[in-house]
Amino acid sequence: MIKTRGYAALNGDQPLQPFDFERRAPAPQDVQIDILYCGVCHSDLHTARNEWGNTLFPSVPGHEIVGRVAAIGSAVDKFQVGDLVGVGCMIDSCQHCPSCAEGLEQFCDNGFTGTYNGSAFGGQENTYGGYANNIVVRQEFVLKISHTDNLAAVAPLLCAGITTYSPLRHWSVGPGQKVGVVGLGGLGHMGVKIARAMGAQVVLITTSPDKSADGLRLGAEEVIISTDPQQMAAARNSLDFILNTVAAPHDLDALLALLKRDGTMTLVGAPADPHPAPDVFSLIFKRRKLAGSLIGGIQETQEMLDFCAEHGIVSDIELIPMEGINDAYERMLQGDVRYRFVIDMASLANN
Ligand code: NAP
Ligand code: ZN
Repeated sequence: MIKTRGYAALNGDQPLQPFDFERRAPAPQDVQIDILYCGVCHSDLHTARNEWGNTLFPSVPGHEIVGRVAAIGSAVDKFQVGDLVGVGCMIDSCQHCPSCAEGLEQFCDNGFTGTYNGSAFGGQENTYGGYANNIVVRQEFVLKISHTDNLAAVAPLLCAGITTYSPLRHWSVGPGQKVGVVGLGGLGHMGVKIARAMGAQVVLITTSPDKSADGLRLGAEEVIISTDPQQMAAARNSLDFILNTVAAPHDLDALLALLKRDGTMTLVGAPADPHPAPDVFSLIFKRRKLAGSLIGGIQETQEMLDFCAEHGIVSDIELIPMEGINDAYERMLQGDVRYRFVIDMASLANN
């Protein structure tokens, strides 16, 4: 076994605190990774506070992991000690169902294993995530990092990057299309950057007027303040696709009205409480579609990492020490993230 130091929520009402535990020693197909950085996703907060009602405690969140290979099992052929690698939201899946065969492990018919809170989809063992100094993962779920610097800012690609890249690819976003991104947080700011790099014309839709300038800097050509009815009315029927990253329940009709005929709004935000049900007339009059999307498969995550490296895309981050996590959660709840917190895991040595 390997001794690991991390940070855990012991229940949904208490701040995260230092937590010692053990990982398995690498099996033949396993890669042991020393974690350098871990991004802070809003899903970590939903889980640590048991907002989705399925948290196994103690809970060690974190699924935006960048680190270096420290050891490999005897059958590992994709990685060597010293390689720079990433781990995202999944660490296992059945590997034989039709979804896994298509490289869509996130839709594994037998339930993928999450990097943390892993037995929620079956199995007995709770998995512990990346708010820790190391992790052991089978090589099929380890990603190669080809960025060479700014590694802390690469970490958020492992969830925020793939969760926005995958729907943008699936709905064939590209040149000639006008694409709305709703919410400028961790996911949203990656969505703006990636949609722009794919060649689309990007419109940021935000509740925060003070994020307008950042929206334009990150790649949007236009910003709509969603709380301003005049701006919303002026943008009706103008968008081909909307990526909605908002982490709280809100009025979907106001956003659906921005879609052109046959346009799609894809939800990736996963609020604890449901959105008010949309009005069917928002959909049927212009044959609009409302859809959802879950992270992305391993092959697509590698494709996204390579795409971002090629286009010079990383996350805009605020680096925090591990002990800053509870303050970071509070700021996240206030929409005060510019635009992703990333934990410097070297700080764990002080805890
Ligand atoms: P985040 O950094 O907190 O950003 C969420 C953004 O939503 C905020 O910055 C804010 O943007 C907007 N917002 C928040 N509360 C709002 C409200 N009451 N009304 C309107 N807008 C509000 O969170 P994140 O890490 O990007 O995650 C976003 C959501 O996606 C979370 O629910 C998370 O669990 C989920 N998620 C889903 C997947 C998936 O696979 N589908 C993967 C990862 C995360 P503005 O200030 O610009 O309005
Ligand atoms: Zn996430």
